Amino acid sequence: MKVLIARLNHETNTFSPVPTPLAAFGPDGPTFGEQAYRDNKGMRTAMSAFIDLAEQAGATLVTPVSASANPSGPVDAQAYTTLTQCIVDAVPGCDAILLDLHGAMVAQNSMDGEGDLLVRLRAAAPGVPIGVALDLHANVTPAMVGNADVIVGFKTYPHIDMYETGEHAGRLLFDLLAGRSKPAMRWHQLPLMAHTLRSASFTGAMQRAIEAAREAEASESLAVSIFAGFSLSDIEAPCMSVVVVDAEAPERAQATADRIAMQMWNEREAFVYRSEPLAESIARAKALADGATRPVLLLDHGDNCMSGGSCDTMDVLQEALAQGLDGIGVGPLCDPEAVAKLIAAGEGAEVTVALGNKVSLEGIGLFKKPVTLTGTVRTVGNGEYVITGPTYTGQRSSMGRTVLFDTGAARIVVTERTQEPWDIGVFECAGLDPRKERFLLLKSRMYCRPVFEPISAALVECDSPGVTSSDYSLFPFSKVRRPVFPLDMA
Ligand SMILES: [Zn+2]
Repeated sequence: MKVLIARLNHETNTFSPVPTPLAAFGPDGPTFGEQAYRDNKGMRTAMSAFIDLAEQAGATLVTPVSASANPSGPVDAQAYTTLTQCIVDAVPGCDAILLDLHGAMVAQNSMDGEGDLLVRLRAAAPGVPIGVALDLHANVTPAMVGNADVIVGFKTYPHIDMYETGEHAGRLLFDLLAGRSKPAMRWHQLPLMAHTLRSASFTGAMQRAIEAAREAEASESLAVSIFAGFSLSDIEAPCMSVVVVDAEAPERAQATADRIAMQMWNEREAFVYRSEPLAESIARAKALADGATRPVLLLDHGDNCMSGGSCDTMDVLQEALAQGLDGIGVGPLCDPEAVAKLIAAGEGAEVTVALGNKVSLEGIGLFKKPVTLTGTVRTVGNGEYVITGPTYTGQRSSMGRTVLFDTGAARIVVTERTQEPWDIGVFECAGLDPRKERFLLLKSRMYCRPVFEPISAALVECDSPGVTSSDYSLFPFSKVRRPVFPLDMA
């Protein structure tokens, strides 16, 4: 038996100015063949679970590609063609196909990245079973459901069950191959655009939907997946859905999908994040810091690079400075041009520099101007550190050349590369102890929380105008099928 196993992950924010070339799909670009196998074997990816299952089954493995990019704008046409073609080319002679996909990929030459790939695979190998593991933020489409035999999504956000999801999807596919079951897959998509900030699996309506999925799996269903979708995507349906795999019982699969979807629809308001005006958030943070012995976190979730943000907008810092906050640790802020200027001035120099707001946000019609700030270059470094926190522990990270720029009220970590503040190391490698600040301005939604919440007095979500904002009125959706909640239905 020969099994094709491949990984192709990208969450596309179609409004993002950040390009997605082939080189973005891995630290050194995508890997192919034997190297794709080695990159996943023993890791916690869905692909690694596929590898383990296939090896246990004594199968011959074909691993054409492993490619995973951080969220950003639409995938370059050439990159999409190269990555999907090498999967399609590997099909001849394979008895099964297992794919580790995200489910919210849009390319310059494909509005439905995963769906179009699955259509081509089905056509290249009619009758060969296809199993797919997807991210919880997948925008599931008819082409995806119609051209796969088994789809299973993550049940956690923050995501920690990639391996388990791959194992689940893979097990169902090997059961099918062995004739132990005949899976029937049905789905229900809701006209509901959920906010990422309301898709955490440990609380609220999302948690209740996932509990319902687990209960169905504990009784009759082989797999039940709740997809929050990724709404910052101008496609037909960047929406929530439920996908159910049942054994030989399509009607029961449909009934389960309908029932859980109805539960989610009844709670639709709970999937929508209503943003507080930025000035109010900053005023609230100021009050919370009064008498606090630990920093108050300002979460600038409108500019999160792990959702396609440019990591360079200045709105939250500007508002904080305007309201007289001080003791603000900021970072990372990506501005390679400013880094070069500050490094040229040297440590200890006082410099006036135009900072941030340099990446055009034309996808949402925003054109900002850099902010002129005067301060002292405290440290210059290479921005390298090893993650000590709970997310990606031990992984070596690099922000490019990095400067700690001190304006008096704010100490800003300015970097050459975008970086999620997922570890204390983003500050410590620049010589800043974040515990000693009164405020910490983090361009993050979720990843910073397990690291920075324990050292903080409070957390305030600040919605700034950026390509990862939760304010849908900023985004010129033109392709989304209407009506949809909450754009049309209050
Ligand atoms: Zn996700």
